[in-house]
Amino acid sequence: MSTAGVPRPREGRQARQGPAGLTDRELVAHVTSPRALCTGAGVDPDDWFPITAEAAKARSQAARALALCAACPVRAECLELSLRHWNDIGQHGVWGGLVEADRRCIREQWLTGASVTELLWPVEATAVSSRSPERPAVPAAGWHG
Ligand code: SF4
Repeated sequence: MSTAGVPRPREGRQARQGPAGLTDRELVAHVTSPRALCTGAGVDPDDWFPITAEAAKARSQAARALALCAACPVRAECLELSLRHWNDIGQHGVWGGLVEADRRCIREQWLTGASVTELLWPVEATAVSSRSPERPAVPAAGWHG
């Protein structure tokens, strides 16, 4: 997978770690591995593509997917891949346990250097909020269905 044209967070912030330090190829390997809970049989692809853009309704429509994602060990890698590829494959559907509307909310923070782990988990998100008071609240329960 090429990284050409992929928006990347601004440089100058702390060294990026975790999923941000992985290449696209490595991220894809994570989200297509047996560890990803959406791989294998028994998963209905329709669960990952709510038909509405409105956040609350989309979460309801994707509830089964979001429940699976909530326990997925590669959730952060999945979210990172989605945000890197927002303009091609990463915008639509459920990625990293978030529907499109919720990912759209956090994408601006990600683009300014917030890590997906900061954005996914409320305790870490609170710490980031204290550095950026204008930052919109993360929908704490939303991505768990
Ligand atoms: S976070 Fe959800 S969509 Fe992403 S790999 Fe895990 S189960 Fe699949």
